[in-house]
Amino acid sequence: MIVDKISSSIKVGVLGFGGLGQAATRVLAPKGEMSWVATADQKGYAYNTNGLDVDRAIAAYQTKGSVGYLEPYGTLSNQSIADLLANADVDGYFLALPNLPNTFMAEVAKQFIQSGWQGVLVDALKRTSAVEQLLELQTDLKEAGITYMTGCGATPGLLTAAAAVAAQSYAEIHSIKITFGVGIANWEAYRATIREDIAHMPGFDVDTARAMTDEEVSALLDKTDGILALENMEHADDIMLELAGICSRDRVTVGGVVDTRNPKKPLSTNVKITGRTFEGKISTHTFTLGDETSMAANVCGPAFGYLKAGISLHRRGMYGLFTAAEIMPQFVR
Ligand code: NAD
Repeated sequence: MIVDKISSSIKVGVLGFGGLGQAATRVLAPKGEMSWVATADQKGYAYNTNGLDVDRAIAAYQTKGSVGYLEPYGTLSNQSIADLLANADVDGYFLALPNLPNTFMAEVAKQFIQSGWQGVLVDALKRTSAVEQLLELQTDLKEAGITYMTGCGATPGLLTAAAAVAAQSYAEIHSIKITFGVGIANWEAYRATIREDIAHMPGFDVDTARAMTDEEVSALLDKTDGILALENMEHADDIMLELAGICSRDRVTVGGVVDTRNPKKPLSTNVKITGRTFEGKISTHTFTLGDETSMAANVCGPAFGYLKAGISLHRRGMYGLFTAAEIMPQFVR
């Protein structure tokens, strides 16, 4: 086994400090290979080259509304990402930002390109059209010296990568079907995730879901008993598997059920990969996530695994855009 030695701890920034951003810092806290030094939310940022305290940062965000209130490392700002970029020395960022509007992540990527910063970016983007916008930045990312890992959450991410591995048994892939079950205690802990899911429901799109007030989201969830049932979603697993040469995107389908009032999963998240072997047998591999694993665990773990993989690519001078279906995540110790 080839182990990529990382001599000193990787300095990590987490952009967006909502549900996933906060969980990401808890995932990082016990790691020796990575240290969390920087963060930003909509109203401020915090940076300390020797590391930030997770509990104090979460307390500042939850009681005062921004990490900018974290003493003495926080600063309030209406352009927190730009200010952080100008002040921080960071090797890689996890972009735990809402992609609202659907062009937001590509705009953030452009901001990084224009700043002259070099390093690794990882996102947990969901929509195919959002990944397509990043594909257009491929050359700019390369020239800027940025290694950008896209679609590196759970789906897309962990499940897409599992499908890419499972596909190897077959000579031809007939279908890849991802079904996710998510249980969260209250929707306010993951506002962007829930708005972006609502955007997939009949009668909604990204702009209408983004424009909904918190009260309107709560009223909608009251009508469905807190359940969002989603099918045939526009999910980038399809373009990622197509780009990786595994199957055409029309063979990939994604749907699932989100319970916003119960941390227990409404169903077991799984991916089924059906294909034909070289002997002509039709078969299905199924990869099922443990029911005890939360959405946060299945998004943030892979995101940092891909960040570590991205760092080793970056150190070898490999820049540009990569997806979770073409690179193996590395385990962060
Ligand atoms: P959230 O609403 O809980 O938090 C968003 C955070 O981003 C907040 O801290 C907010 O202040 C910050 N923010 C917003 N605009 C900003 C700006 N301009 N500058 C700096 N910070 C800004 O979000 P969440 O529920 O944690 O979701 C984050 C993203 O993760 C969503 O896009 C969601 O779709 C994605 N997600 C992906 C997967 C996957 O498996 N791929 C799973 C779940 C969530």
